[in-house]
Amino acid sequence: MSSFELDLEALDDDQRVAATAPRGPVCILAGAGTGKTRTITYRIAHLVDQGFVSPQRVLAVTFTSKAAGEMRDRLLSMGVTGVQARTFHAAALRQLRYFWPQVAGDLPWRLVDNKFPIVSRAVRNVGMDPSKETVRDILSEIEWAKASLISADGYVEALKAHDRIAPKDPMKVAKVYQRYEEFKSQPDGMLLDFDDLLIHVAGALENAPAVAEEFRQQYRTFVVDEYQDVTPLQQRVLNAWLGERDDLTVVGDANQTIYSFTGASPDFLLDFSKTYDNATVVKLQRDYRSTPQVTDLANTVIDKAVGRAAGTRLRLEGMRDPGPVPKFHAYESEEIEAKEVAGEILTLLNQGVAASEIAILYRTNFQSAVFEEALADAGIVYQVRGGDGFFHRQEIIEATRALHRAARRTDLPNDPVAIAKAAFMEIGLSSAEPEGAQARERWQSLSALVDLISTIVRDQPGIDLPGVIVDLQRRASNKQAPTMEGVTLSTLHAAKGLEWDAVFLVGLTEKLLPINQAIKAQGDRGDDEAIEEERRLFYVGITRARIHLLCSWALAKTTGSRASRQRTRFLDGVVPELGDASAHTSRASRPKRCRVCNGYLNAPADKVLGRHETCESLADEEVFTALRQWRARVAKDIGKPAYVVFTDATLLSMAESLPSDKNGLLSISGVGPAKMEQYGDEVLEVISSVRT
Ligand code: ATP
Ligand code: MG
Repeated sequence: MSSFELDLEALDDDQRVAATAPRGPVCILAGAGTGKTRTITYRIAHLVDQGFVSPQRVLAVTFTSKAAGEMRDRLLSMGVTGVQARTFHAAALRQLRYFWPQVAGDLPWRLVDNKFPIVSRAVRNVGMDPSKETVRDILSEIEWAKASLISADGYVEALKAHDRIAPKDPMKVAKVYQRYEEFKSQPDGMLLDFDDLLIHVAGALENAPAVAEEFRQQYRTFVVDEYQDVTPLQQRVLNAWLGERDDLTVVGDANQTIYSFTGASPDFLLDFSKTYDNATVVKLQRDYRSTPQVTDLANTVIDKAVGRAAGTRLRLEGMRDPGPVPKFHAYESEEIEAKEVAGEILTLLNQGVAASEIAILYRTNFQSAVFEEALADAGIVYQVRGGDGFFHRQEIIEATRALHRAARRTDLPNDPVAIAKAAFMEIGLSSAEPEGAQARERWQSLSALVDLISTIVRDQPGIDLPGVIVDLQRRASNKQAPTMEGVTLSTLHAAKGLEWDAVFLVGLTEKLLPINQAIKAQGDRGDDEAIEEERRLFYVGITRARIHLLCSWALAKTTGSRASRQRTRFLDGVVPELGDASAHTSRASRPKRCRVCNGYLNAPADKVLGRHETCESLADEEVFTALRQWRARVAKDIGKPAYVVFTDATLLSMAESLPSDKNGLLSISGVGPAKMEQYGDEVLEVISSVRT
C-alpha cells in the first residue's frame, strides 16, 4: 500500500501522537500556530500510508475552499492523491447532485444565486417596509436560524432559549422566514439556498437507508479543521455522514471562535471527549508560527477573556527565534494611518520581506478602501482577499485560452512549463519585468501562473499539458490562486488559519474593533459574549503574524477633524496610552507645526493646509489653484471624489517644490509609480503652463 515516504520527523512528539493515533475518534484542542492543520494533513497521509483507509474513502472538511485546495496540495506533495478535501457546502452540493434522483425523482432544483430579492418579496408580503437594512437583517436572521436548526414555527420560542434579540418584531420575522421558504418552491422546480443543501443531505442520509448505505460505503474517515466554528446544522450533516461510526478527527481552538453570529458554537469541540469517551485527545502548546514577542502579546490579550471558551486557553510558546517587539501607533486620521502603513510596508519590502508575506487586516470590508488607495499611491501591488479572484483576471483568462490553443498542437515537446512560457510571451510575458503599473501587474499575474504550472509539474512528474489544464481548472473552481507577489488585504474573519511574516492590524478603535453592534449588545442587555467574540477576532489577527506585527488606529476619520475616536479597549492594560506627543514614534500623534513659522497648528483648516492661514505660503498659489482645477476636471471625468486623484496636501507639495520632471514629481509624498503613470505628464504640463 505504502507508495510514498512519510516523514513523521516533521512533527513534534505531541503532534505525532495525534497523527499516528489508531483509527477512531481524535480531538486536537490547541492554540494558534501549533500545527493543527499540519497534523491532520499528516494524519490523513499516515492512515493512508498504513493501509487503514484508501484515499478515496477520506473526506476532509475545511472552512474555506482555499484551505481545501491547500490541503489537497500538501497531500499531493506527500504523494497522496484522491482525498476529498472540501468545505461543508461544496461537499454537500456534490453529494446532493448525486443523490437527488434517488430521494426526489425528477423534481428539478437549482441553487439560489441571490437570496435578497426573495427575502425582500417576503418582507413586503407580510406588510413590512422592505428597506435594504431590514431585508439584510432578516436575511441574516434566517441564516442564523437555519444554521441553528430552528424552523420558522419554532423561531419565536427559540429566541428565549438562545437569549437572543430578534432584529424586528419576532412574530413578523417568523412570518417572513416562513414566506421565504414557501417562495423558494416554484412551479418550475425548487430553489435551494446553501443551508438547504446541508438540510437535504442530512435528510437524505437520515431517511433513505439505501442512500445512507451507499454513502457510508464510499466514505469511512472524516477530518474536520477549524471545528470550533461548526454550526448545529453542519454537525447534523457530520452525524449523518458518520452514522454509527466514529472514525472522526477534529481540530480546533475555542479561543478562535469567530463565527458565533452565524450560529457556530465551540461546544461541539469542547464536548468531544464526552461524546466519544474513547477519544484520543491531544493538546498542543508550541506555536511554530510566531516569535515569542508575538505570542507574548497574544497571550496577554486572550488572558483577559472570560466565558467558556476562555477556560480552555493555553499559553502559547513561541518557537521561532526572537524578533522585533510588536509596534503600536496612533494616527491622526485614517488617511494618515493608511499612508504610514504603506510607508512601513515599503521599508519591509526594502528589507527583503516578500510582498506576498505581508498582510493588512481589518474588521470590516469597507475599511480596505483607504488602504488600497495608499498602497496604489505608493506603487505597491496588492490583492483584496475575497475580491476579484486570480483566475478571473483578464490576463489569466487569456493565458488559459493560449494554453488550450497550444494543447491542440501536435508539434510541441512534452514540457508544459516551456510551452506555457512561449505561449504567454505573445500576451505580455516579456523576459524582464516591464515598466508601468498595468503592464507590470499583467506580467506578475502571468509569471505567477508559470510558477504555478512549474509546481504542478514538480508534484506530478510526467504530467502533460492537457493534465495541467485540468488541474488549473480545478484550482480556478476553488478560487485558489497561487501566491502572487502582492500585499494581502483581508478582513480578520477571512484571515482565519492563514499566516504572514508581517501583519498590520489596522483600525483598532472602539466601534470598529470591537464593532459597534457588540458594544451596543453589551450596553443594552449586558451581553458580554459579543465583546468576547471581538476579542477573539483580535487574537486571531495577532496570531497570523510570524515576525512583524504592527497595530495601529486613527483618532479621527478624516484629517483635520476632531479626534473623536478611542483606542480599542483590548489594548487597555496591554500597552500604555499613546495619546500624547511624547509617546512613541507616531508622526501623526505629534502636534502639527506650521510649515512657514514652525508654530503649532490648532485650527482644523490650518492643519489641512499645513500652515497658519495667515502665514505666507511657500507654495506658488497660482500653480496650486491650477492643479486643483485640473484635479476637479479629472475627478469629474472618472466619477470619483477629488482626493482619489491627489490629496490637497500632495497638490500643495507640488505647488511648493514645482517639479519640472518625473523624478522631481516622484519624490513628492503621495505620488507613486501608479499615479505617475496615470497623471504624471498632465501634472507637469499644468505646472509648466502656469509658470511660463
Ligand atoms: P491556526 O490555529 O492558526 O489554524 P494551526 O494550529 O493550524 O494554526 P498550522 O497552520 O498547521 O497551525 O502551523 C503553523 C505553522 O507552523 C505552519 O507554518 C507550519 O508549517 C509550522 N509547523 C507546524 N508544526 C511544526 C513543527 N513540528 N515543526 C516546524 N514547523 C511546524
Ligand atoms: Mg489551522
